[in-house]
Amino acid sequence: METRIETDVIIIGAGPTGLSLACQLVRYGVDFIIVERNEGVTPFSKAIGVHARTLEIYEQLGLAQKAVARGAIAGKVRFVEAGEIRGEVDLSNIGHNLSPYPYMLVLEQSKNEQLLYEYLRIHSKDVLWQTELESLSQSETGVTARVKNAADESQIVEAKYLVGCDGPKSPVRHSLGLGFEGSTFERMFYVADAQIDWDLSHDALHVCFARDSFVLFFPLQGEKRYRIVGVFPEGLEKGEGEILYEEIEERIKEESQLALDISNVAWFSTYKVHTRHADKFSVSRCFLAGDAAHIHSPAGAQGMNTGIQDAYNLAWKLALVIRGKARQPLLDTYNEERLKNAKRLLTTTDRIFQLGASPDRLLGFIRTTIFPSLAKYVLDFDAVKKIIFPLISQIGINYRDCSLSWHESDETFEVKAGERMPYFSIDGESVYDKLCEPKFHLLAFSDGQSDHRTTSDKIESEYADLVDCHVLPLYPHVAEIFGTNKSFNVLLRPDNYVGFISPQTSSGELRAYINKFIERS
Ligand SMILES: Cc1cc2nc3c(=O)[nH]c(=O)nc-3n(C[C@H](O)[C@H](O)[C@H](O)COP(=O)(O)OP(=O)(O)OC[C@H]3O[C@@H](n4cnc5c(N)ncnc54)[C@H](O)[C@@H]3O)c2cc1C
Repeated sequence: METRIETDVIIIGAGPTGLSLACQLVRYGVDFIIVERNEGVTPFSKAIGVHARTLEIYEQLGLAQKAVARGAIAGKVRFVEAGEIRGEVDLSNIGHNLSPYPYMLVLEQSKNEQLLYEYLRIHSKDVLWQTELESLSQSETGVTARVKNAADESQIVEAKYLVGCDGPKSPVRHSLGLGFEGSTFERMFYVADAQIDWDLSHDALHVCFARDSFVLFFPLQGEKRYRIVGVFPEGLEKGEGEILYEEIEERIKEESQLALDISNVAWFSTYKVHTRHADKFSVSRCFLAGDAAHIHSPAGAQGMNTGIQDAYNLAWKLALVIRGKARQPLLDTYNEERLKNAKRLLTTTDRIFQLGASPDRLLGFIRTTIFPSLAKYVLDFDAVKKIIFPLISQIGINYRDCSLSWHESDETFEVKAGERMPYFSIDGESVYDKLCEPKFHLLAFSDGQSDHRTTSDKIESEYADLVDCHVLPLYPHVAEIFGTNKSFNVLLRPDNYVGFISPQTSSGELRAYINKFIERS
C-alpha cells in the first residue's frame, strides 16, 4: 500500500543546490522532504572552487569557518608557457575589504555536500536517500509527487511547493515541459584528481597555456594532490566515457610541456561543456534551481556556487509565502531575478571560456604571449581587482532591474537598490554579524542629528516577526561606501540585498515597501 506524507516543500535532488535549499528552509523553520536517488552525498570531488558569496551564505548557517578549516585558500596563480613559468599572481587577498572572505576557497563538492548534510543532521533532518521521483502533478493548491525507494515502495508526497534541484537532466524540468535551449561546446574536456611529482611547488594554481588549449593544475589538500583540467582538440571522434585515462595523461604531458609524473589517480572524467538554461525557472507551484535550471562552462568555477545562490534566493520567498506573511507574487520574483542572472552568467562564462580555449590565432597569441606576463601588473591595480573579484566571487550579482528593488530615493547613493549589502566593519565587527537573523533588516545609519530611534522602534513594533532593526553610527568609512554623510535608512531583504535605500528618516516609505509584498495579518 502506498503511504502518504504531507509537507510544505518537496525538494528533488540532494546535490549542493538541494542540500543548500534544505538548510535554508531549516533556518526559516519550514517543513520539507528532500529525496535523492543516490545512497549518500557524492564521493567525487567535482566542483572545487567555493566563492566569497557562498562563504557569506555559509556564514549565516554557521558553516563558513568549518568550510575554511576543511579547505585551502587559493593562493597564487602561476602562468606556464612551453614548460616555462612566465608570470605569477597572488590571489590570496584579491578581494581585500570587499568581503570577509576575500579569496576563493578550494573545497571539493563532496566536502561541501558533507558540510551541508551535517547541518541537516544536527537539526534533526535527513535526506530520503535511494529515493527517486517517479511523477508529479500540481493543482491550484498544491503539488503531488510519487517517489519510490530502493525497496520499490512508492510514497505519495503532498506538498505546497516542489523544487527540482535534480541536475542537468532534470526529470522535474521534463515533467514541466520546459525547454533547455543553448549549445554544446565542440571540444571534449577532461578532469583528473591525481598525485603529481614535479619541480613546481604545491602553493599555486598552475595554468599552462598552449596555442589552442590549456591545462590547469589546482592544488588539492594532501601532499602533491592536484585537480587537472584540460581540453582535447576539435574533431575528436570519441564520445564522453570512451576515452581511456592513458590518453588523458598523454595529452596533459604534451600540452603542459612540463616534466611530471602522474600517479594515484583517484578520479577522472571526460565531459562536454553545455551552455543552456530553462525557458523559465518556475511553473505555478514548481521551481527549478541549480544545474536543473542552467548549465554553463566551468570557466570561473560558477556552477555549484550559482546553485547555492538560487536556493538562497528562493528559500526566504517560499518561507514568507508558506507562513502566510507574503503574497504569492513574491514567488514570481525568483524567476525574474535568477533567470536574468543565469543569462548574464552564461554570457560571461562563455567569454572567459573563449579566451581560455578558443583556437582563434589572435586569442591564442594573447593567451600564451601577452596575458601571462601582464597579468601580475594588471591585477596589481585596485580598480581591476574591484571589477574582477566581484564578477568571479559572485558578490557583484545584483537585482537592480527587478521589481523588488525600489529606486525612488537611491539616485544620490553609491549603493543602489538591488545590490548586495556591502561589507565593512563597525566597531571592529563585520556588519554581517548583525544580519544573521532570517528576517528583513532595517539599518538606520545615523549622523547623530536626526531621530532614528523612533522610526526604528515603530517599524520593529509593527513588524516584529519580520523586520530586525539596528541603529548604527554613520562612521566616515561607511559614509564613503554609501556616498553620503547624512543619515539614511537601508532596508535589506532577508538575503541581504538592498530593497530600498532612502534619506528619509520617517517610517512611511519603509512601510510602503514592506506592505507591497507582505500580507498584513
Ligand atoms: C569536473 C567538474 C568540475 C566542476 N567545477 C566546478 C567548480 O569549481 N565550481 C563550481 O561552482 N561548479 C563546478 N562544477 C559544476 C558543479 O559540479 C555543478 O554545477 C553542481 O553539481 C550543481 O549542483 P546541483 O545540486 O544543481 O546538481 P547535481 O550536483 O547534479 O545534483 C542533482 C542531484 O539530483 C539527483 N536526482 C536526479 N534525478 C533525480 C530523481 N528523479 N529523483 C531523485 N534524485 C534525483 C541526482 O542524483 C543528483 O544527486 C563542476 C562540475 C564538474 C563535472
